[in-house]
Amino acid sequence: MPYETPRDVQDLVVAGFGPSGIALAAAVEDHDDAAGGDPLAAHYLEKAPDSAWQPNLVLPGTDIQHHFLRDFATPRDPRSRFTFPNYLQQSGRFYPFTLMGGYVSRLEWSDYVQWAARQVRGPVSYDREVTCVEPVFGPDGRVDTVDVVSRDTRDGSVHRVRTRNLALATGHEAYVPDTFRPHLGERVFHASQLLPRLAALGERPLGSVAVIGAGQTAGEIVLHLAGRDPATQVHSVVRHAGFRMYELGHFSNEVYFPDETDYFYALEGEQRERALDQARATNYAAVDPDVSTALYQAVYQDGFTGTRRLHMHRRTEITGLDELPDGRIRLATEEVFTGSVGSIEADAVIVCTGYRESAFPKVLTPLAPWLRLDDRGRPQVTRAYRAETTDDCQVGVYLDGLTEWRHGIGSATSFSQMAAKADTIHRDLRTRLRRPVAA
Ligand SMILES: Cc1cc2nc3c(=O)[nH]c(=O)nc-3n(C[C@H](O)[C@H](O)[C@H](O)COP(=O)(O)OP(=O)(O)OC[C@H]3O[C@@H](n4cnc5c(N)ncnc54)[C@H](O)[C@@H]3O)c2cc1C
Repeated sequence: MPYETPRDVQDLVVAGFGPSGIALAAAVEDHDDAAGGDPLAAHYLEKAPDSAWQPNLVLPGTDIQHHFLRDFATPRDPRSRFTFPNYLQQSGRFYPFTLMGGYVSRLEWSDYVQWAARQVRGPVSYDREVTCVEPVFGPDGRVDTVDVVSRDTRDGSVHRVRTRNLALATGHEAYVPDTFRPHLGERVFHASQLLPRLAALGERPLGSVAVIGAGQTAGEIVLHLAGRDPATQVHSVVRHAGFRMYELGHFSNEVYFPDETDYFYALEGEQRERALDQARATNYAAVDPDVSTALYQAVYQDGFTGTRRLHMHRRTEITGLDELPDGRIRLATEEVFTGSVGSIEADAVIVCTGYRESAFPKVLTPLAPWLRLDDRGRPQVTRAYRAETTDDCQVGVYLDGLTEWRHGIGSATSFSQMAAKADTIHRDLRTRLRRPVAA
């Protein structure tokens, strides 16, 4: 792999080559293809060895939560080479797919994501974790470029790429509540580590596993464990009366349309928070109808056959964890209304408490003096996802998939607006580079 010297100034560096980064690359290259001439000088950095999508959670039998036409490109340009239909056609599965009733497994979507990553011509450096972004001063004393510093995860070597524009597409961070954090390790882990941790626990059957949380991931993991070994006792712990279903109303799901992002962006701070709260039920802390049905049937069968190994702890909060001498974990529980206490013992505890958006991306710390922040220390961002800078900084810094608080539920991590978000960023970027995209 060639070593990038900071003398080669890129037009764009993208940190994170998961879905948001790939969607942006697709917008850049589709435009390069159509416009001809010099392509944009873009470089993509990804800390993982490849662009596998949620690799630790691709469970057999799980499916995607969005329509497959909400792919990397179709909403922006259905003629793009990055579309899901093109992927199907290229992989020889177009006709069989049409008999599947629109069902797309997470396994197949992950394959599509990796296929799309391979279509990108621009240099992609894998195994490169971006650690910080440093300002570089021009002759007039203003910040006119930045050095994106990355560490090779294989040998620890440090690399720099200099650029006029940067897009941070590093995704959300796994969230672990304080109760669990001190115990994280081999037996207590966040769901984002599921498959490697289960593999590390070995092939021997687990006597008992506790799954904490009531979202789609928690539901899928309960089903996975129930099917994995008939001897495992599965404890599902939820704070509500039980697993709830997503808000599936057609009208309420229009919050994923791009013009809803315009609406949301125009709201004032407190109004935005209320609007986001309203929209949460369409995506968070709930399961889809398939998983709800499968869970209920599994629990019903469990009771009917008298097996009694699926334990649904409803309205239950975990108040503490103890590591027992034999390595097992004892969870202290409390009923959320009556306050009655109890305990659960488990060989492993899987914490399915979701992901969080960081208020201020750590890698931007050296650049902080040149970024305009709001009263909560978050970067102020334009509708085009660009962080606002002081007058003495000319660098374009895009927060791609990191601004749910500002752009709303549809334009943060969901695939629904992956292509539209990339289009918005790409147009803004070309305008800054004085090579605007025709309307
Ligand atoms: C299990 C699961 C299932 C989901 N299913 C759906 C679904 O069906 N439909 C839907 O719309 N959404 C779904 N989501 C939401 C999900 O967030 C999006 O699908 C999508 O993955 C978001 O893409 P992203 O690129 O913004 O973030 P991510 O997918 O998190 O990708 C970020 C990338 O940046 C890399 N990275 C992170 N830090 C650095 C760094 N410092 N340097 C370099 N690289 C870095 C990561 O390795 C990763 O490749 C799901 C989420 C989960 C957890």
